[in-house]
Amino acid sequence: MPPDNYAYVIPVDQKLHTEDKPFCDHALTPDCLCREDQSVIQQINSYVQEGLLIVEEAERTWKGQMR
Ligand SMILES: [Zn+2]
Repeated sequence: MPPDNYAYVIPVDQKLHTEDKPFCDHALTPDCLCREDQSVIQQINSYVQEGLLIVEEAERTWKGQMR
């Protein structure tokens, strides 16, 4: 379950970064720094540790490839 303060860790455009897809598609926004945001990366890691995502899904999320 995402924490209540989840929006706080979303760095920029809400259209590109949603709760389900915190990382944008790198092909579309190569300059975006969301993949370097440690708070978001830790969030994804916590989902993996809680069993909400498998590692492969987390990796795809990080690459902005989750649909
Ligand atoms: Zn981004």
